Amino acid sequence: MPLSQSLDPLPPREILRLEDAASGLEGVIVVHSTSLGAAAGGCRFQSYPSMSEATTDAVRLAEGMSYKNALAGLPLGGGKAVIRAPQGAFDRPALFRAFGRAVESLGGRYVTAEDVGTSVEDMGHVAEATRHVAGLTQQPGRAGGDPSPWTARGVLGAMEVAVRRKLGASLSDVTVGVQGLGHVGFALCALLHSRGARLIVAEPRSEVAARAVTAFDAQVVSSTALLEAQIDVFAPCALGAVIDAETVHRLRAKVVCGAANNQLATSAQGDQLAERGVLYAPDYLVNAGGIINVAAEYLGWSEEESRVRVDRIGTRLTQVLDLADADQVAPHLAADRLARSIIAGEPGVAALAA
Ligand code: NAD
Repeated sequence: MPLSQSLDPLPPREILRLEDAASGLEGVIVVHSTSLGAAAGGCRFQSYPSMSEATTDAVRLAEGMSYKNALAGLPLGGGKAVIRAPQGAFDRPALFRAFGRAVESLGGRYVTAEDVGTSVEDMGHVAEATRHVAGLTQQPGRAGGDPSPWTARGVLGAMEVAVRRKLGASLSDVTVGVQGLGHVGFALCALLHSRGARLIVAEPRSEVAARAVTAFDAQVVSSTALLEAQIDVFAPCALGAVIDAETVHRLRAKVVCGAANNQLATSAQGDQLAERGVLYAPDYLVNAGGIINVAAEYLGWSEEESRVRVDRIGTRLTQVLDLADADQVAPHLAADRLARSIIAGEPGVAALAA
């Protein structure tokens, strides 16, 4: 397989600088793309040394959301907000209300939700100023609530496809190594156990690991040992950048398919996995169940509609892998290319959309 060329970034449509001296709000909203619908993506709240670094991060994350929402078949573009955590004391509800006013000023071109550093409570304050917000307390009979079970369901569907394609096997024939038994990882273990898969897990919280032994007959190893364990599938469900220039050579599994964001340290590792004959299921496609559920909340879809759409993640993975084979590129690049074609509305690609 030839080495993948990386794609040049697509520039954002609009960048709104956030500044409200009264509440201490300082940050940026990036509307990356709106060709498929409102630019949707969460609001990150953390320390940044400068506005320039906050903006660079927001632009990168917003482009990622454009690709993710497009591949998930959602009628949404991509966006992101980044708020710099103020130094010293501040009025958090007032800050998030001010952020809500900024979201409102965009007239629905950007829709926000939780991300790193923000909570359901924060989004409640945002909702006092705008209706363009999701990730609120779930209403009876409506989509919404904890996205993790949906994420786990999507990972399972993708893994079924990947295991069949790479190993000609079903989940009951394989051993899966799950790294991280948090909200998604534990739910994924339950689903895999119910399908008859054998489990080897790594989780630093020993009481949680012990629960997996009892409930799923899982074997527990260290995170480092998991990479070299006799597993067919590696499911990263904890950290980013777990596949780097060093670990890529130690991995024994033939399939990588998990929930963690940004599993590849750099895109070179995507090529290296392909060269080693390892099927890498692109993370942002595999873990889209959560965003589908958040979108369903905003767009007013039923839980059933969410379920149908989450269950199409496996079909979408097949499309990406077919494209990778046809173009002789690694799956992470094929995923980006397909997402960009959907965003650009290229003829013929709509038929591929979920
Ligand atoms: P979480 O914080 O609930 O769980 C992470 C788990 O990983 C914890 O149990 C933690 O103890 C464990 N962990 C930490 N370091 C570890 C290590 N070195 N080895 C093994 N385990 C380790 O997070 P989550 O909501 O389950 O999300 C897991 C991953 O999936 C994250 O990367 C997240 O960004 C991504 N993701 C989550 C969702 C969702 O719906 N929650 C959606 C998309 C992507």
